[in-house]
Amino acid sequence: MPENRDVIIIGGGPAGLTAAIYAARANLHPLVIEGTAPGGQLMITSDVENYPGFRDPLTGPELIAAMRAQAERVGAQIVTNDVTAVDLSKQPFLVSTGQENLLAKSIIIATGAAAKWLGLASEQRLMGRGVSACATCDGFFFRDRDVAVIGGGDTAVEETLYLAKIARSVLLIHRRAELRASKIMQERAAGHAKVNFAWNSVVTEILGEDSVTGIRLQDTRTGATREIPIAGVFIAIGHQPNTALFSRWLECDDSGYLKTVPGTTRTSLPGIFAAGDVQDRVYRQAVTAASSGCMAALETERFLLATPAVV
Ligand code: NDP
Repeated sequence: MPENRDVIIIGGGPAGLTAAIYAARANLHPLVIEGTAPGGQLMITSDVENYPGFRDPLTGPELIAAMRAQAERVGAQIVTNDVTAVDLSKQPFLVSTGQENLLAKSIIIATGAAAKWLGLASEQRLMGRGVSACATCDGFFFRDRDVAVIGGGDTAVEETLYLAKIARSVLLIHRRAELRASKIMQERAAGHAKVNFAWNSVVTEILGEDSVTGIRLQDTRTGATREIPIAGVFIAIGHQPNTALFSRWLECDDSGYLKTVPGTTRTSLPGIFAAGDVQDRVYRQAVTAASSGCMAALETERFLLATPAVV
């Protein structure tokens, strides 16, 4: 029988690593299974300027490396592997990596979410060089420049309004003739002097060699194409939380995010906690992911103390 660990943390982004730091310092000997592409969305973030504690900008990978080193220094064990299955039907819970079956009295799920992308080769090539999926993260770099946002939901309009405070102009590009976003958000965008709209339009190419210089748009009704000079492209067509392994066992909302009891990281099963973007579709920041990782570790500690049956 494998050892019954106090806690296994699934995911090695800011939520999982912060949970690991707190759990290790509480003597819970956490095992972090960070995935084979660890670090989460920060790994595609070029400059982080809004994570407190660093006077100068650092890259997303640098921030993750610092958190990882800190977690290891305080005693967390980190393995670079993917979880392939879990069995949450009874305690101890089973976590399988394909090669190994592990048991845990509690689990912190911090598998994050992934931005949806258009799927263009040029989008991949220019990611972090003018292509972004996070205005709060990267908008600052486009002060007084012209930028575009792609999408028609609340996220797209929110990103548009955020960028309108910084950029010279924002072109909101939507594939249909009306937005999906809430009325109030639509009105705010429509009434904003810096915001323009490209309706019935899809981006077929992001232009630029080393950084974004423009976009090619196609009219969905006529098929006509045009090129527009632009310095930044923000893709806001939705996020996909990484919950496929868990949705059979845990309650999720309509968009697939894990449901947690408000104000906590408790999921629908005792002993299973969720932290970071996998349960947060609103804030999605490294610092909010880290803070919920902290909450998850503290709640895990309390759960283990209060539930002698699993100890
Ligand atoms: P949504 O799924 O609501 O909207 C995605 C948008 O992207 C849609 O307009 C969709 O077009 C468009 N889209 C999807 N795929 C493509 C594609 N391949 N090419 C071009 N366009 C595409 O996602 P959001 O992230 O906007 O919102 C998710 C949820 O979070 C919503 O429930 C939203 O209300 C909520 N939210 C709330 C906020 C708030 O209350 N402040 C802020 C942000 C989000 P189409 O319309 O044609 O389907």
